[in-house]
Amino acid sequence: DRLVSGETDFEESSFEQSLRPQTLDQYIGQTKVKENLAIFIKAAKMREETLDHVLLYGPPGLGKTTLATIIANEMGVNIRTTSGPAIERPGDLAAILTALEPGDVLFIDEIHRLHRTIEEVLYPAMEDFCLDIVIGKGPGARSVRLDLPPFTLVGATTRAGSLSAPLRDRFGVLSRLEYYNEHQLSDIVERTGVILDVEIDENAASEIARRSRGTPRIANRLLRRVRDYAQVSGEGIITEEIAQSSLELLQVDRLGLDHIDHKLLKGIIEKFRGGPVGLDTIAATIGEESHTIEDVYEPYLLQIGFLQRTPRGRIVTEEVYRHFQLDLPKE
Ligand code: ATP
Repeated sequence: DRLVSGETDFEESSFEQSLRPQTLDQYIGQTKVKENLAIFIKAAKMREETLDHVLLYGPPGLGKTTLATIIANEMGVNIRTTSGPAIERPGDLAAILTALEPGDVLFIDEIHRLHRTIEEVLYPAMEDFCLDIVIGKGPGARSVRLDLPPFTLVGATTRAGSLSAPLRDRFGVLSRLEYYNEHQLSDIVERTGVILDVEIDENAASEIARRSRGTPRIANRLLRRVRDYAQVSGEGIITEEIAQSSLELLQVDRLGLDHIDHKLLKGIIEKFRGGPVGLDTIAATIGEESHTIEDVYEPYLLQIGFLQRTPRGRIVTEEVYRHFQLDLPKE
């Protein structure tokens, strides 16, 4: 339920759907990824071949699903969507693969969560567009090879490091999505404003952008909340003042940090004199799971230089003391 989480919540999905850019041109930012994809897509189309398999990786909410849809649109093919945890048995994957039309994009979100036995079905499918199926059991069992239509696998993951090497090696294109800068997020907020038919001042869009942790999903979510305030307490127009005061009320500070970030950072300062302190110790102190801290809370704090990882543990930087207007420890 965190307002500044990059993860999606179920309620949000239809709202997000309506905001998804449909073409590479409409997709804001990620210039390098876009430029490369544009070339690969054009070349594949000229050769009348399918696009190489693409792996998209980066933190949640940066637009991996959106990009997968755009790839399919630009190639002029259909997209089938599934996710690592949804494919429970090899047969589930076989059913999906055999139902593909030639050229289709198969999008597997959270691909690092695929079971190893299922990954093994994927290897020949990715490499040679075929499936090896074992029929029968025991000594009478035999393997049958089934041809598949050529397809493009687009995999998305927040943890490229967790992907097995053989799977990673089978992707021809590896694209890493970066956090967006304030300017790009501001453009995204203004674009969403147009789609939602809400008037928003340029400075207000920047204010929302600054507090969105480099993440379009958060920017759009904050905009939606701010719009509510503007409707109730203003005249429906989102001014800088309304953006500022509503985000204060929502407890999202000027860098996009919320009460959980505050608890984590202040916990390290108050209990461990700023660190270094081990991840498990932090987790126990603030009552969160270590992997949640590592996957969800920490990446942005590392990105903005508020936390550092050292062999001896996490350290908060001087920036944090300045942000909270605290005195630096003596030594
Ligand atoms: P997850 O991995 O958690 O599913 P994701 O990286 O796939 O997240 P998306 O669902 O693609 O993220 O994007 C989240 C929202 O942000 C969508 O509503 C999408 O419209 C918007 N968005 C993402 N990237 C861009 C962009 N470059 N330009 C405009 N809007 C964007």
